[in-house]
Amino acid sequence: MQKNPMRLSKSLFVTLREEPAEAEIPSHKLLLRAGYIRRIGSGLYAYLPLMWRVLTKVRQIVKEEMDATGAQECLLPQLQPAELWQQSGRWDTYTQAEGIMFAFTDRQKREVALGPTHEEVVTAVARDLIKSYRQLPQHLYQIQSKFRDEIRPRFGLMRGREFIMKDGYSFHADAESLKATYNDMHDAYCKMLTRCGLKYRAVDADSGAIGGSGSQEFMVLAAAGEDDVMFTADGEYAANVEKAVSLAPEAVASPFTSYEIKDTPNTNSIDKLVKFLECDRTSIVKNLIQQAVYDNGKTVLVLISIRSDREVNQVKLTNELVKLAPNYGAKTVIALEVPDGVAIDKWASKPLPLGYIAPDLSDEYIQSSPNVHPQFLRIVDETAASLTNFITGTNEPGKHVVGANWNTNFPIPAVKVDIQKALVGDRAIHDPTQVLETARGIEVGHIFQLGTKYSQAMGATFTNEQGEEQPLVMGCYGVGVSRLAQAAVEQSYDKDGIIWPVAIAPYHAIICVPNIADAQQMEVAERLYSELNQLGVETILDDRDERAGVKFKDADLIGIPFRIVTGRSLKDGKVEVVQRATKQSQDIAVENVGATIKDWIGN
Ligand code: ATP
Ligand code: MG
Repeated sequence: MQKNPMRLSKSLFVTLREEPAEAEIPSHKLLLRAGYIRRIGSGLYAYLPLMWRVLTKVRQIVKEEMDATGAQECLLPQLQPAELWQQSGRWDTYTQAEGIMFAFTDRQKREVALGPTHEEVVTAVARDLIKSYRQLPQHLYQIQSKFRDEIRPRFGLMRGREFIMKDGYSFHADAESLKATYNDMHDAYCKMLTRCGLKYRAVDADSGAIGGSGSQEFMVLAAAGEDDVMFTADGEYAANVEKAVSLAPEAVASPFTSYEIKDTPNTNSIDKLVKFLECDRTSIVKNLIQQAVYDNGKTVLVLISIRSDREVNQVKLTNELVKLAPNYGAKTVIALEVPDGVAIDKWASKPLPLGYIAPDLSDEYIQSSPNVHPQFLRIVDETAASLTNFITGTNEPGKHVVGANWNTNFPIPAVKVDIQKALVGDRAIHDPTQVLETARGIEVGHIFQLGTKYSQAMGATFTNEQGEEQPLVMGCYGVGVSRLAQAAVEQSYDKDGIIWPVAIAPYHAIICVPNIADAQQMEVAERLYSELNQLGVETILDDRDERAGVKFKDADLIGIPFRIVTGRSLKDGKVEVVQRATKQSQDIAVENVGATIKDWIGN
């Protein structure tokens, strides 16, 4: 860390007394009030000098842990040509479907975008430079600003439209080598977060639009987190809610043992049906229609059968639909929604029996049109697939069937998958005596085993030991550096302000001079100021012409771990040293202050 002493009387240091109206969560409020950041526009922030020091420390820790694994730092362009994204097949998803990429046309009429992530760029580099298995494995990483046109930028640095990320990409000859680097990254991330003073959990995660197989997220636990983490008390299972798997509660035995069509007037909702038939929700199969749009413009209507007490996890469903994309001549899904009346009217040939749909709803309900696939894609969730003697619709308003069984009464859909949302209280798969609990988390890191998705699409190949040409096997690893810094505040503050973990605090100590007109107070303060900085105890001098109370309040607000006061105890040759986290105070002889604090900060 560079020695860059800071005299508050000469610094651009402005704190706010008032709660900033724009901020909702404590860390965002505190960073604004304490003069760490200023909002410049939606999702855009200036990192002021104190913040930049925090970010520099986080970057340094991240860099040290990455370098320790043998990864090589580089810097890739933020401005990226559309061609690369067209080659990977992500241009449309990122500019249209998700629309998260800032894309525009330059003066030569070339399409370009500001990098939200760098798989394409780094794969292009690997395609040019890696030819042989002898060059593998490789791991390149960088720390730079990323751009994402987030639909809801919020919570300050937590979800910005420009933010700092560490992103790394590894290249391998085979899955085994990838796995080894992936495991190294897992360990490196644990070390980084521990060094930054954070409480976190590594959870199984969905691989999302990036695609691929294994993936884990690193979640900093905090009430303001935007992600739900599900875990079991035995510590054996933790997953992002999008990915979480569970055992649904056992189904109650159906009260109907023979197949029968029953009149069930006015039962177009599950609640009404349960009341009318005096049955349990777990005896009912509900059938829902969703509408998927593939990247080739084809709309596919999805008919989902699921036990009526369970809900569909849209992320799991999307992943299944992406897997099925080749069946529709497509690569990926660009939209998935529950269609409203207006949307249904666009493709339905006649009114749907809403509330009474059966798993065998006829394809004749789909009007013939070149952009709409003429058959329902029928999917059954495992919760429904395992039911017997169930209750479900008849495709006729006012009627349900009871005592129905798959294959006897309804053909079981060919696509049988787990698309249910895991819920708190569900039993765990690894041990059904364990129950899923939930906590809020802030995603600060994400590691993926990508496989060959990008290398295959972009033609990044190498020659293996047998002389065969193979696509490179890839992994990618991200850390939200700016989000991580704010997450640290979210985990550590009190009513007076921020309490920085020592390792990422902008400074270690602050010297407050209660009265700058007092020559002795100033003389000792100046002496300590230069001595501490020389010792490597990064120290601020508050020599402003302000009342002592104002200085103490500001010192607490900005969260510097140790406050040194050149006040009353000077008559005994001592200064008061207060620990920010505990507010514990002790008088220490002036000549011992440097060594004592150096020892405390572990330098
Ligand atoms: P999220 O689910 O929060 O939108 P993501 O999964 O899209 O994030 P990744 O593509 O995995 O994000 O990016 C790597 C890391 O970058 C994330 O783990 C997160 O810490 C950080 N990050 C992502 N988006 C933002 C953002 N808009 N502002 C700040 N940090 C971000
Ligand atoms: Mg992520």
